[in-house]
Amino acid sequence: MKYIGAHVSAAGGVENAPIRAHEIGATAFALFTKNQRQWVAKPLSEKSIDEFKANCEKFGYSAKQILPHDSYLINLGHPDIDKRQKSLDAFIDELQRCEQLGIDRLNFHPGSHLREISEEHCLDLIAESVNFALEQTQGVCAVLENTAGQGSNLGYRHEQLAHIIDKVEDKSRIGVCIDTCHAFAAGYDLKNDYQGFMQDLIDVVGLQYLKGMHLNDSKAKLGQRLDRHHSLGQGEIGWDMFEQLMKDPRIDEIPMTLETIEPAIWPEEIAQLKAWAGQSR
Ligand SMILES: [Zn+2]
Ligand SMILES: [Zn+2]
Repeated sequence: MKYIGAHVSAAGGVENAPIRAHEIGATAFALFTKNQRQWVAKPLSEKSIDEFKANCEKFGYSAKQILPHDSYLINLGHPDIDKRQKSLDAFIDELQRCEQLGIDRLNFHPGSHLREISEEHCLDLIAESVNFALEQTQGVCAVLENTAGQGSNLGYRHEQLAHIIDKVEDKSRIGVCIDTCHAFAAGYDLKNDYQGFMQDLIDVVGLQYLKGMHLNDSKAKLGQRLDRHHSLGQGEIGWDMFEQLMKDPRIDEIPMTLETIEPAIWPEEIAQLKAWAGQSR
């Protein structure tokens, strides 16, 4: 079963996210459990938590169909120890919010070296931060998102994701989320060589770590290292790759969500993806 949806708004409370996902015909969804551009958020209320769980049950969303995204401010590989600690505290809070909501995974961007330390040192710091955060929490898997490699953001090569995984002690609580736009912009030609891309992911990272995908076309060209999403079929990747992905039996039972730029056409994008996956609902 392919679980296909979008990153929906949690405006008015996280409990609204599953309602919005259902409205667009989604069988998976992503959300922010707090404002993604602020450091501090009010704790989730009991009412929000209860209603979120009730709405997920009502519309048929189990934990493996939901992949929240953490705050854009968090940098677990920050070269400055105080700023890294601030990120770590915020990350632990995000993991705890997932725990409260009954969610079993949290997507995050690995981190940036800010041109102050080496890539390898930064990757080691990220792994150290993840180890600490996992010790402080229970049950939620930390899911590294591959990046486009814009600026000094790490995670744009499969080897970098594997480096972090290798240094995380609890392998059952670390995973990856592949964003198709980011992979393409980082230089992986999944448009012309989808099989080659998948094989590299399998060889370097391992599919057992794949805990989600972000389905986006790219405004940026192959290898341009820019994070610019586009609607499916309208960017540099094109529809064909998404058809291959939907028909790939190796990728199943994980949340696959759109972060494309025109929410008005999400229902059509989802319907097309489902059709290729051979699923009517
Ligand atoms: Zn992201
Ligand atoms: Zn993404």
